[in-house]
This record gives sequence, structure tokens and C-alpha cells, in this order.
Amino acid sequence: MNEHAGHEELARRVREAKVRLGGNCLILTHHYQRPEIVALGDARGDSLGLSRLAASSGARHIVFCGVRFMAESAAVLARGGQTVHHPDPFSGCPMSDMADVEDVERAASELDDACGAGAWLPVTYVNSSAEVKALTGRMGGACCTSSNAEKIVRWALGGGKKVLFLPDENLGANTGARLGVDPREIVRWDYSLPSGGNDPDALRSARVILWKGYCHVHTLFTAAQVDDVRARFTGARVIVHPECSPEVVTRAGESGSTEFMVRYVESAPPGSTVVVGTELNFVRRLAAEHPDRRVVELARSMCPNMFKITLAKLLATLEGLPDANLVTVPEDVRRDARDALDRMLALS
Ligand code: SF4
Repeated sequence: MNEHAGHEELARRVREAKVRLGGNCLILTHHYQRPEIVALGDARGDSLGLSRLAASSGARHIVFCGVRFMAESAAVLARGGQTVHHPDPFSGCPMSDMADVEDVERAASELDDACGAGAWLPVTYVNSSAEVKALTGRMGGACCTSSNAEKIVRWALGGGKKVLFLPDENLGANTGARLGVDPREIVRWDYSLPSGGNDPDALRSARVILWKGYCHVHTLFTAAQVDDVRARFTGARVIVHPECSPEVVTRAGESGSTEFMVRYVESAPPGSTVVVGTELNFVRRLAAEHPDRRVVELARSMCPNMFKITLAKLLATLEGLPDANLVTVPEDVRRDARDALDRMLALS
């Protein structure tokens, strides 16, 4: 079966495969997936919520329709005997790739030299590789999501530590602003430069150090677009994802994770207009599911990596179980990455 077969035929064969597999297989779909993939999934949600759902289910095979780091997180949290499968092994996340484990190890050594070992902790967004999560776990740090970043950063700062926030500079900057961190105590770590491009004094006086990574889907949004939609839709509420720049977050007035956005639209009064600044597939689905509200995208911005998961690849994975597109994480990496995720879950 190839990509050019009709959607109806592919969808029919996916449904047949699901019936054959029964309760042995669980198809998880991230909010940003194509509509035809979400329609065939058993559950949809954000990456961590789906991974936790998988681990608590009785299914032997988890087919994760999302990007690579999400499938890896599911493998890290999986129960013994569960296998995780990713329909396109080349569906990665550029933001996750911006924090290469060797660059993070070098940054750790340079921060130790400048500030002293034990003076800082890594807080790692779940949009990161299993290796970087594992390094975070070994160093006593924690993972975070866009929902709980404030809690996790507050925990680290509250212990008197500096925070190396990675890999998303904008989520870190927006979180620091919400926590009231003095902007003069926030520096940026450019991983292509020695000491991240900072002099040792700046690192010693910093409280938050932001890794220079970003999501191109969310940095596409601008403050001018927010002004423009406010002019076009009088009285509209505007909500954006915290991976947007601080300027866009400030201008929008509201920001939150995808799960927060779902609740935000649900609680908006019928007849109201909500402008949403995040991935287009998700915004279009929100609009379709809330026809009594006007839900509009801030601008058209899609994640091409999420888009790589197609019906043909999902079908090939289901028909190739238990071996097709298997996601494996070395045991030592799995154990340490799990520590960073468990620390986050305990704190939130
Ligand atoms: S939307 Fe951005 S952060 Fe999410 S998978 Fe795509 S590139 Fe990565």
C-alpha cells in the first residue's frame, strides 16, 4: 500500500488492522497530527499525557503518532513487556535536535567551571531527546512541560540554584517573566560559542540561563499579527503557546499549553471569538469541535514533522507489528531519563 492509495481505502485497512489487533494495540495521536490520523486514534492529547496513558493501559503495542521525542518518552515510561512504535522514524523535532547531548555535556562542564559544581540545575523541556533527559536525571535536574514549567523552575530556584533551561529559549524566558525573575539575571546560552557566549561574571550573577533553541512553528507568530487580528475581530480573545516569543505572549495577553487552550476555548462563551496562536491542525480541530464559537488561527503555521505521519505509514506499522518501527532506548538512558520525568511528576 503506497501513499497514493485513496484515503478511504487506507483508512478502511487501518480500521481492519485495529480490529485484528484488538486490545493488544493502542494508537496515540498528538494534537498536531493530521485530521485523518486523529480520527483513527484511540486517544489524543499532549506528549506526556499520552505517554502516561500508554503506561497505564493494558495494550502490548503502543503506536505513537507524533514526533520522535514523544515516542521515546513513551518508551521510557512503558511498562515491562510493552513495545512502542513510531510510524515514521524520520519525524523528528528540530527544537529537540537543537540540544545535542554532547553540547549539553560541554555546557555543564563550562558552567561548573564558571559557577562551581552544584550551583546550578538543568530544567529540561520534554521536547528533548532521551539522552538529554537522562543527563538531566543524572545531574539531579527535572523535566518540565509547557503546563508545569513555572512549578519546576520555581522548585529549582527555590533551592538556591541557577537554572539552565533547555532547549526552548522562549518557554524559559516566558516562565522567568511569570516568576518575576529580574531580566538582568537572565542570560542566553549560545551552544555554538565557548561559555555560551557569556563572560564568567555574567554567568555567576545569572539566575536563569536560556538555551538558544526554538520552535519554528511558534516563532512564526508576530506581535503585528496580534494587533492585526484585534483590529479585524473586535473583542476577540487571543491566546498563544508559550513557545512564542515573549513579545507575542505579552501582546496576546493569554498563553498556555495545548491542554490549557482546549479548556480555554471550551470555557469561552458561545458566540465569542478566540484567536489561537499555535499549530494549524490543532486550531482547525478546535474550530470544528466548537461551531458555536469562532475559533481562528493567528496565522497559518504547521509542523511539517508532525505532518510526516501518514495513513500509509500508520497502516504499514500496524501490519508490521510487533517489529515495525520499534522505538528502543538503552536501559541506562531509560533509567536516568525516567528519573528526570519522575522528579517532574512528583513536583507537579
Ligand atoms: S511544533 Fe515545534 S516543538 Fe512541536 S514537534 Fe513541531 S517543531 Fe517540534
